[in-house]
Amino acid sequence: MYRTHTCGELRISHIGQQVMLSGWVQRIRNLGAMTFIDLRDRYGVTQIVIDESSSSAVKDIADRLGREFVVQVKGIVIERASKNSKLATGDIEVKADVINMLNISEIPPFTIEDDTDGGDELRMRYRYLDLRRNTVKNALLLRHRMAQEVRKYLDHQNFIEVETPFLIKSTPEGARDFVVPSRMHPGEFYALPQSPQTFKQLLMVAGFDRYFQIVKCFRDEDLRADRQPEFTQIDCEMSFVEREDVLNTFEGLIKHLFLQVKGINFTEPFPRMSYSEAMERFGSDKPDLRFGMEFIELGGMLKGKGFGVFDNAEYIGGICVQGCAEYTRKQMDELTEFVKRPQVGASGLVYIRYNADGTVKSTIDKFYTSEDLMSVANKMGAKLGDLILILAGAKNKTLSALSELRLEMGNRLGLRTKDVFVPLWVVDFPLLEWDDEAQRFFAMHHPFTSPHPEDIHLFKTDPASIRANAYDLVINGVEIGGGSIRIFDRELQQTMFDALGFTKEEAEKQFGFLLNAFRYGAPPHGGIAFGFDRLCALFGGSDSIRDYIAFPKNNAGRDVMIDSPSYISQQQLNELSIEIRRKE
Ligand code: ASP
Repeated sequence: MYRTHTCGELRISHIGQQVMLSGWVQRIRNLGAMTFIDLRDRYGVTQIVIDESSSSAVKDIADRLGREFVVQVKGIVIERASKNSKLATGDIEVKADVINMLNISEIPPFTIEDDTDGGDELRMRYRYLDLRRNTVKNALLLRHRMAQEVRKYLDHQNFIEVETPFLIKSTPEGARDFVVPSRMHPGEFYALPQSPQTFKQLLMVAGFDRYFQIVKCFRDEDLRADRQPEFTQIDCEMSFVEREDVLNTFEGLIKHLFLQVKGINFTEPFPRMSYSEAMERFGSDKPDLRFGMEFIELGGMLKGKGFGVFDNAEYIGGICVQGCAEYTRKQMDELTEFVKRPQVGASGLVYIRYNADGTVKSTIDKFYTSEDLMSVANKMGAKLGDLILILAGAKNKTLSALSELRLEMGNRLGLRTKDVFVPLWVVDFPLLEWDDEAQRFFAMHHPFTSPHPEDIHLFKTDPASIRANAYDLVINGVEIGGGSIRIFDRELQQTMFDALGFTKEEAEKQFGFLLNAFRYGAPPHGGIAFGFDRLCALFGGSDSIRDYIAFPKNNAGRDVMIDSPSYISQQQLNELSIEIRRKE
């Protein structure tokens, strides 16, 4: 028997008990007459004490211990002289009668404590040591709790968990596929699923009317800061449902998670906003609604006064920033620099200070009278002391730049706090998106998304304005999930493939299995998938999904611990009939 209790368990009530603990030596303090050991396991830290009255065998072993040694301690629980209120076990310590050294450890490459001296790369290389640290461990415990609660809720709602294959067929779903060569079929490849999309639809055809799966998805995309080539979705599909049914069911899931995991009770329905409204008011399809600063269109007021930048702009929009009229010259220059960054893309920034004394002062005083500027301030709902920031230019570009500026001001003013959660359903996305480079339409969501029935006639005349029966769940400006009501009619699916520029043969070759299934009584269906890693990060108050993944890849898509990707042997290549073209 290794232990009677965990290292997080002992309290005042255990005083006088003989106990056994096993764990890792986090720290040793040798104070001459006394030695203290912080013994750690998954559950916490307990102080072990060795004093003058301890046996020489115990003292001997204590002298030989080092960081991360694995030991078993037998002893008696005593009250601490100086209690540590920061530690759950801080009222007690265990006076060691016996210490068994179960294993030794080399000196770890970084300190395994809450604040570590280990850089990212080092911690990733030794991720199993990193995982011993509280912050990382707690992230995985949170993830576990979330997964259990997801299963509990969905099981209760009659969803069944079905596994779908990982070795599937390469299909043009949006991102690039990871592919796996087939040994038995030389020259042929499997693809790893970007999502189980078509399989979950086939499960609906099969009559399983409520499916879910917590499932890995794979996308071979260039990695941006917070992307992983493999990530996890809570993937769901339902039959005989309309949009309302799906939104209500999964709003229920998210509310359940908030209540069970964070103790936050959302009593009101999540607000809904159409894509076009989100774009007009916030310049983003995932607006952060923790704060206001809505866009106000100012074209009508500002055009025609001889200021060329405005007169020639397709769109002029402003935001009103509370209490910032006194921003210094330097701060304004910083903001101008900010909007000019290539990622933001504006050509300049115009501002109006609505000073505390009631005067207005702007960068465009030459073209506008105080009355003009006053009426802008009024239209923006500005109060004394507010600062109005204005961008102008091509509409979409300006909306997006103003959105970045709004988020930046939200950050500067501390309005994006991590312990406030504001959810939003964004609905009615465009079905199709024109790609100038490829000179064709792409599906904004995916090719199986149903158009609004009343927009179907637009396939012939104005495909770009067809609204999709699609929805995203956004929380705090982060896209947490997305889905749609699907096409379940063969003809309509074919129309969609036509609009996407697939020939009949291509559609047949890529998606014949789905089109075939639709011949045999496909029910109306729809679903959604949530980014599970991101949901966990949001709940944990972190910007990084990596913290919530046990063994993540780095920004270059590498697992630096197992050193992958890596070369394979010539024999393996031969078996796969693959020849590598080495770079000169
Ligand atoms: N398969 C979709 C995705 O991964 C989600 C859905 O439509 O259910 O984005």
